[in-house]
Amino acid sequence: MAFGITHHLESEEHQHLRHTVSKFVEKEVAPIAARMDEEDYFPEEVFKEMGQMGLTGMLIPEEYGGIGEDLLSAVIILEEISKESPALALSLLAHSILGAYPIVKYGAPQQKEKYLPALAEAKYIGALAYTEPGAGSDAAAISMSARREGDHYILNGQKTFITNGSVADVIITYAKTRPEMGRDGISAFIVERTFPGFSVSKKLNKMGMRGSPTALLFYDDVKVPSENLLGEENRGFYMVAKGFEVERITISAISIGIAERALRWMVNYSKERHAFGKPIRDFQLIQEKVARIGAKLETVKTYLYTLARYYDPRRDNRKESATVKYMAAKLGVEAGLEAIQVLGGNGYIREYPVERLMRDAKLMDIGAGTTEIMTIQIAKMIYREF
Ligand SMILES: Cc1cc2nc3c(=O)[nH]c(=O)nc-3n(C[C@H](O)[C@H](O)[C@H](O)COP(=O)(O)OP(=O)(O)OC[C@H]3O[C@@H](n4cnc5c(N)ncnc54)[C@H](O)[C@@H]3O)c2cc1C
Repeated sequence: MAFGITHHLESEEHQHLRHTVSKFVEKEVAPIAARMDEEDYFPEEVFKEMGQMGLTGMLIPEEYGGIGEDLLSAVIILEEISKESPALALSLLAHSILGAYPIVKYGAPQQKEKYLPALAEAKYIGALAYTEPGAGSDAAAISMSARREGDHYILNGQKTFITNGSVADVIITYAKTRPEMGRDGISAFIVERTFPGFSVSKKLNKMGMRGSPTALLFYDDVKVPSENLLGEENRGFYMVAKGFEVERITISAISIGIAERALRWMVNYSKERHAFGKPIRDFQLIQEKVARIGAKLETVKTYLYTLARYYDPRRDNRKESATVKYMAAKLGVEAGLEAIQVLGGNGYIREYPVERLMRDAKLMDIGAGTTEIMTIQIAKMIYREF
């Protein structure tokens, strides 16, 4: 099902990448996507294969074994995978964009050498642990502590909803080094799952994105060598905030992949299905759904591609990244729901993938900052600008 629709902002290399990923998805991901959902099964072997192909090296510089720091390539990879398995795309995003990219941006040379090549080839799986049971949207309110003791930090606390948490080897973990300083007292650490005191307490059972493992993590006096402090001490909050720009742009590609797949189902099904003596595509109320999702897809996708292609980390991209995430998340859910509607009873039945697309799409209203938090961010920036 190689329906990778190319876009005018893609270079020839991007088109080649899309074609390669699309073929891989057709061969390796399509056959297991439904099982991943049914059994909440994470296909570690497919992840390793993505490592062989270089896909897990997205946003990692070539000198460390990656395919380079190109956001549009990451968007294309995530979009193509999401057409079959948004869950696999989410795990890839958590691995590359959340787990590896902070090391690319803030890592010391020896940290880059130690971790990036292994992450690029998926020898290690990556994750990022920020959210806690008591602190999600209110990011400065985390309570995990990191106490300096000689040449180590001692981490104590819990993290929840961590994508890849139960399978990750390397977990970028945020903790308070100066609890009295609020957002100015948060630091980032590279934690390995083999560090004593680290444990996965529970894999969480989700409504969607099943097959992408989400876990509750425990840190009980975890001894982290001081050379595993990532970036400057007490600058963690600002690292995460900047990281959100890239995360929100790239996660939007998952919503776009979902919307494209949903639209494809709407079109194909409405050509085949007959009611009142004609194909349902002849009904204008069906055409309205196709046109509305198609028009929004065209617009949001072009905005996403523009941001990805011209992303400049030196600029303040908070408004743009929140805007694309807000629009894409809404589109993904709307497309999933409308695809169910066009398929009628079949849309509600699990044999057809559209209900899964809708369940998967809903995560994008929550992860990487909720739609409400995007709204607040956009409004804040508009008031500042005008
Ligand atoms: C499947 C999944 C994967 C995830 N992966 C990761 C991961 O890899 N790493 C990680 O660190 N986290 C991860 N998260 C956590 C995710 O980022 C948080 O769930 C999200 O930020 C929301 O936080 P919360 O769940 O605590 O909701 P809350 O912050 O408790 O929000 C509850 C509701 O209140 C609203 N709300 C909160 N504050 C305001 C406000 N000021 N104004 C208006 N409304 C408000 C929210 O929008 C929401 O509707 C994941 C979550 C899920 C479900």
